[in-house]
Amino acid sequence: METKLLKADDQSLRLAADLLKAGQLVAFPTETVYGLGADALNRDAVLSIFQAKGRPADNPLIVHIHDRSQLIGLCIVPDQAVPLMDAFWPGPLTILFEKLPVVPDEVTAGLPTVAVRMPSHPVASALLRVSGLPVAAPSANSSGRPSPTLAAHVMEDMSGRIPLILDGGSCDVGVESTVLDLCHGTPTILRPGGITKEMLESVLHTGVALAGSILRPLRPDEKALSPGMRYKHYAPRAVITLVEGDSSAVLPLMHTLYADEIAQGKKACVLCFSEHMEALKDCSPHDIGSESHPEEVAHRLFRMLRSLDDEGMESVFSEVIPPEGVGLAVMNRLGRAAAFRTIKAE
Ligand code: AMP
Ligand code: MG
Repeated sequence: METKLLKADDQSLRLAADLLKAGQLVAFPTETVYGLGADALNRDAVLSIFQAKGRPADNPLIVHIHDRSQLIGLCIVPDQAVPLMDAFWPGPLTILFEKLPVVPDEVTAGLPTVAVRMPSHPVASALLRVSGLPVAAPSANSSGRPSPTLAAHVMEDMSGRIPLILDGGSCDVGVESTVLDLCHGTPTILRPGGITKEMLESVLHTGVALAGSILRPLRPDEKALSPGMRYKHYAPRAVITLVEGDSSAVLPLMHTLYADEIAQGKKACVLCFSEHMEALKDCSPHDIGSESHPEEVAHRLFRMLRSLDDEGMESVFSEVIPPEGVGLAVMNRLGRAAAFRTIKAE
C-alpha cells in the first residue's frame, strides 16, 4: 500500500474523513503526539489499528471526539467528570467512563470502561468534525517505538501500512494524554501527561491518587490498572541509565560513565539540560531542554529518544527532572525507556 503524506488542508481533511468513513486508517496530529485513527464503531477498522502497530490486543484504545454530545450513547458520564471536561476539554486529558454496548470490545480490550478524550489540535478537531465519527486512536508508532511527535516519525513506522498521514507539524505537548480513572473510587491517574495531578485536584477539590507503577516497573504479581503500563513502551535500542543527584555530583559522574563506555568501544552520549551542555561538551551531549522548563523537556523527549536509534547509540546517560507537574509525565516515559535503571550520584 502506498502511504500518502499530505499537509493538512481542507482537501486532505476531506480525503481523510472519507477514508475513515470507509473503514481505513488515517494518522493525524494532536496536541500530544500523532494518533493512528479508525472509526471507533467499526470493529474491522479498529482491528486493523492493532495490525498496523503490532499492538497487543489486550491494550485498549482511546476514543476521540470533538463534541460532548458524542458521549451520549457511547458511555455513562458521572457528575464528577463535568467540571473536568469544562476545565480541560478540549485538551490532553483522557477520562475513563463506563461503556455502553455500542462500543466494540476491540476498542476497550474487553474492559467495561472506555477511555475518551477531546483533542484541542485544530487538525484533529477538524478531522473529527468533518468525519462526524468517534475515532479510536492510539499513538501512531509501531508498538515498542517512541510515540511520534512529527509526521516524519509516523512515516518511519507506518509507511506501506496505512493510506494517509496528515502532516500538521510538530506536536506541542510531546507526551501522551493524562489518563484519569473516575470509575473506581478515588480519582486515579493511570498515566501522567500534560494535565497534572495538581491541575486535576484544583478542579475536583479532592485528592487525586497516582497508579503505583508510574515511577517504577510493574511487579510480576501486580495487576496493571492501565493495560498499557504492562508493556515496555518508549524504548530505543540503546541502554539508558538515569543519573540522579545534585548537579555538582552528577556532572563529574557523567564524565566518568561516558569515558568508561568509550574505553570499551561503545557508541555513547549523555542527555542533559541546556544549562549543562557546556560542562558536558566532551561527552557527546544532547540537549533535552532547560532544567527550569519541564514542558520543553516533554516537548523534545520522544524526538530525542528516536534520534538515539538513528545515531546508533549503545549507551546513554541521562539527567533527571523532579517528578512534579509535567515532570511526572517526563520521568514516567524516560524511566520506562531506561527500564528504571538508575545510578545515584553522591
Ligand atoms: P496510546 O493511545 O497508545 O497512548 O494508549 C492508550 C493508553 O490508554 C494505554 O496506556 C491504555 O492502556 C490506556 N487505556 C485505554 N483504555 C483504557 C481503559 N478502559 N482502562 C484503562 N486504561 C485504558
Ligand atoms: Mg502509545
